[in-house]
Amino acid sequence: MKTTAVSTLSMDIFKKLEILSNAANYDVACTSSGVQRNGQNGSMGNAVAGGICHSFGADGRCISLLKILYTNECVYDCKYCVNRISNDIPRATFTPEEIAELTISFYRRNYIEGLFLSSGINKNPNHTMEQIYEALYIIRHRYHFNGYIHIKSIPNTDPVLIEKIGWLADRMSANLELPTADGLKKLAPQKSRKSILTPMKQVQLTRKKDLNFHGVPESQHMIPQNVPALDIAARQPLPDNTGENCLASVRGSHNALAANKQPPGTRMETTPSDTAALAELKMLRSSNSRFVPAGQSTQMIIGATEETDYEIVHVAESLYQNFDLKRVFYSAFINTTGDPLLPLTPDGPHMLREHRLYQADFLLRFYQFKANEIITADHPNLNVRLDPKCNWAMNHLEQFPIEVQSANYHTLLRIPGVGVKSAKRILAARRTAKLQFSDLKKMGIVLKRAMYFITCNGSTMLPLKMSPGFILTNLLGLREKLPDFISGEPVYQQLSLLDDPKIGGEFIV
Ligand code: SF4
Repeated sequence: MKTTAVSTLSMDIFKKLEILSNAANYDVACTSSGVQRNGQNGSMGNAVAGGICHSFGADGRCISLLKILYTNECVYDCKYCVNRISNDIPRATFTPEEIAELTISFYRRNYIEGLFLSSGINKNPNHTMEQIYEALYIIRHRYHFNGYIHIKSIPNTDPVLIEKIGWLADRMSANLELPTADGLKKLAPQKSRKSILTPMKQVQLTRKKDLNFHGVPESQHMIPQNVPALDIAARQPLPDNTGENCLASVRGSHNALAANKQPPGTRMETTPSDTAALAELKMLRSSNSRFVPAGQSTQMIIGATEETDYEIVHVAESLYQNFDLKRVFYSAFINTTGDPLLPLTPDGPHMLREHRLYQADFLLRFYQFKANEIITADHPNLNVRLDPKCNWAMNHLEQFPIEVQSANYHTLLRIPGVGVKSAKRILAARRTAKLQFSDLKKMGIVLKRAMYFITCNGSTMLPLKMSPGFILTNLLGLREKLPDFISGEPVYQQLSLLDDPKIGGEFIV
């Protein structure tokens, strides 16, 4: 096996790395570390700024990824994108070999655990995705790399290519870009809703078939599949030179596809002339690999067009329901191109709006909320002062207080300050004992929020009257500390008028 250290990579690759990791910054599926640190005597490890980002595994573990574009030489002209053809910026394109060498070199140096590879559209979608496939094939079959790989797919790519890549990648994502078809038409007219959703549907259905084939019950389809390390090695038990033969086959299929000379943006139909690509697809299907085992995700830019949060949350719900997405990412719009069709962002991106959308998204994915419960057409934007769960609770005070000793799981999840884990802990603990408020705190319940919405064995935590004004005032942060008999900590918060019954607060005495 070829050994390549970072130091043996040419400066040319590092120049490309600088350009193509910066160009990947606007993809929010992960965030760049931006740290450069050399190894030192007496210490272990080092860090590089170029293109290292972090993602989180299904178990919450932080994974470092090499986050790069294959190319920023894009033939499309999406108004919001720094890489669009009409922008005058330094351009670069990796070769598949270079992507593979960088990934493996960084991996061997312990800089990264995986690869996040996106791209502009070089020549046309099929040419670009062929190059990405070739890089992936080298990484998996020449270097037998078993780590995590996330690939962004490009609209209008041939379905054969999409499937081939899906057998080698852990996660695939197709960016929706803008929440509605109208927004897309206005700012990215070379893309269409159909060209983005078609590969998403293809990945969903192929993944479903693969999971069924492996006997995974429907209820576990949304859980990332843990593919044993040996499986990837066993995909193709290749002797050292077989990787080269496979590579020749990849190149053969690439030439076959390229010979069709597709104009940019057109979808190539699978024809008999694609024999090499189809033969290869057959080989991939019959291997032990799993199809996109970590599922698929997408990203929406928020604030470049005029969609409300109501529309965005409903689009996200529909994506989860109809395409089995693992994640929808939201990216607050930053005006980097100055195009006259774009809004100005003098105060920077709307990070609070992005944050509220992520909170609403959590309610959809983990808390059994429906989009219509989170947001209504009458109030089409999320409350910036309260998180969406507290906002829902404040609008449904008639459903509170909830008795934690007897409420079911679904109802427990509705309590502000109670998360998925803490709801499960309540269910487990109350099988054997009566719960006390001090137990709830130990279970991770955020009592400073939850205390207005619960009773425990029939009692509220404090003798509180459930007045909406009182709860709202306290939720908005006027009193953030718990009473010392619960926290066990000394009380040093500023006294509030509401805390002292003698001053005429709202305590029931
Ligand atoms: S296709 Fe559009 S969004 Fe993607 S890199 Fe090209 S210009 Fe940017």
